[in-house]
Amino acid sequence: MKKQIINACIVTMNSQMEVVKNGFIDIEGDEILRIGSMNERQTNSPEIEITDAAGMIVMPGFINTHTHVPMTLLRGFADDLPLHEWLTEHIFPAEARLVTPENVRIASRLAFIEMIKSGTTCFNDMYFFEDIIAEEAKKAGIRGVVGESLIDFPTASFKTVEEGLSLCEQLIQKWQNDSLIHPSVCAHSPYTCSEKTLKSGKRLADKYNTLLQIHVSETRKEVEDIKIRTGKTPGEYLHSIGLLDKNVIAAHGVWLTPKETELFASTRTSIGHCPKSNLKLASGIADTDSYRKAGVTVGIGTDGTASNNTLDMVEEMRFAALLPKVVHYNPEAIQARTALQMATLNGAKALGLDGITGSIETGKKADLILVHANASNMIPVYDEYSAIVYAMNSKNIRYSMVNGEWIMKNREVLHIDKEETLKAVKRIACSFRLS
Ligand SMILES: [Zn+2]
Repeated sequence: MKKQIINACIVTMNSQMEVVKNGFIDIEGDEILRIGSMNERQTNSPEIEITDAAGMIVMPGFINTHTHVPMTLLRGFADDLPLHEWLTEHIFPAEARLVTPENVRIASRLAFIEMIKSGTTCFNDMYFFEDIIAEEAKKAGIRGVVGESLIDFPTASFKTVEEGLSLCEQLIQKWQNDSLIHPSVCAHSPYTCSEKTLKSGKRLADKYNTLLQIHVSETRKEVEDIKIRTGKTPGEYLHSIGLLDKNVIAAHGVWLTPKETELFASTRTSIGHCPKSNLKLASGIADTDSYRKAGVTVGIGTDGTASNNTLDMVEEMRFAALLPKVVHYNPEAIQARTALQMATLNGAKALGLDGITGSIETGKKADLILVHANASNMIPVYDEYSAIVYAMNSKNIRYSMVNGEWIMKNREVLHIDKEETLKAVKRIACSFRLS
């Protein structure tokens, strides 16, 4: 069925950064067919589903470029600790008890409710049992990049790296032609993966032309450890073994040196910037303004809820806009329109999906959200980018569409049973606490 959104203020995020103040969008199947101003709109046809967006901003949905979806079960479980201690003494042992196929399924549902309600239409995930996460994303109607996390110790879903690689390959083969799920390969990090594991992951990603995800240069400790082990900084080390490339997204990149920044730019390696997680674990503040100026594509991610503790891209984008101003004592660093670009189109670029999503343009998939901008916390709207980045909160987001299908209407998530999910999560958390 054809759909039409009318009377909308359309923030397209196309390359000209066009804003259509009073416009319409025609959607046919999963694609955007036409965008125009209301006076060019063609007459009504009874077969078209019309959505009146008067008072609303229509914009591309957010692209969360780095997360660990099922960690919703560990939200608030171990706060206010340094990363290494947090990860090795709390998170890894908790995951050993908690990460089961059934728990991953429930935790994913909770994550998708929160993501959809805060405007995310596409996420990039690295975890375990990714096939289940993919299935749940598909049911929820949200676009997802999924990858089983290769790591050099036994996990809940595989015991050896060889088994992990074979799981990755099965995941790719199962989902590679799906319209909503985009399989990828993940190598957890240079400090948890040997050179052999890292190279095997890259080979697999290249074989199937998928994205390769990795955590890089998150903490000073990681940088020091890698330097002791390899004589190089993490970025230089990864470059020396062929791990920096245009199909690679590095989460964090907090401590990149100017030389590493240049390597990222020249190899077209992208960054998934996670400002809140980096602040909470006191990892540092990534100098995204300099990275961007050097030509690196920077998207925004929430990281998992164990270190954030939300999946709210509106908050994340605001942090991404505000922090660089203090880093440089320069209010012009990462302006509102740039922050929104990072949260949408550049996120899509970082994931290799900018041909299909990240902006509202003819021929792209209809992945978009409707924002109630005629709201007390948003008016007056002198500048749409400013209103979205500095004033909007996730409750202003009323409708969400992915691949031309509504996944939220009037803030009701359509394809996940919220009450059931909340009950199930509380049940899991309760037995986990008592065990
Ligand atoms: Zn992470």
